[in-house]
Amino acid sequence: MKSPGGLMLLREESERKRTMEEVKKMKWKCPKCGREFERKDQQHYCEKPQTIDEYIDQQDEKVRPRLREIRRIISEAIPEAQECISWSMPTYKKGRNLIHFAASKKHIGLYPGGEATGVFAEDLAGYNVSKGTIRLPYDKELPADLITKIARWCFEEYKK
Ligand SMILES: [Zn+2]
Repeated sequence: MKSPGGLMLLREESERKRTMEEVKKMKWKCPKCGREFERKDQQHYCEKPQTIDEYIDQQDEKVRPRLREIRRIISEAIPEAQECISWSMPTYKKGRNLIHFAASKKHIGLYPGGEATGVFAEDLAGYNVSKGTIRLPYDKELPADLITKIARWCFEEYKK
């Protein structure tokens, strides 16, 4: 037999369940590294990356192949440069920083400096570009030749 009080309890029970399901669906964001996980306090490698390998390993699985690809393109374009992490981004340097890249939600940001985006404005017409930033969307092939040209230009200009 259900008393009005019993019904109330039933309703509270189903609301509580719904809230729990919503909480489960919400992702947990690690306060230290900012990555999102299915489970709260998920075990993961949470240090700041010291190398480009570590940086790529910390990114979403889906975008890692793309990041490895751009890394290969840049390191083949400017083998004289050293790889490091600077400004929390994969960076190529020779005396000074030449070019950076970084993973975003929908694109890889390529950061060759403001002068470079001006010099290559015509080649970059099909891309979302702002001064010093080139956005290479994940759903478009990486323009290997153009990235190579830009990286070479950065090396020749900035090494001086
Ligand atoms: Zn973390």
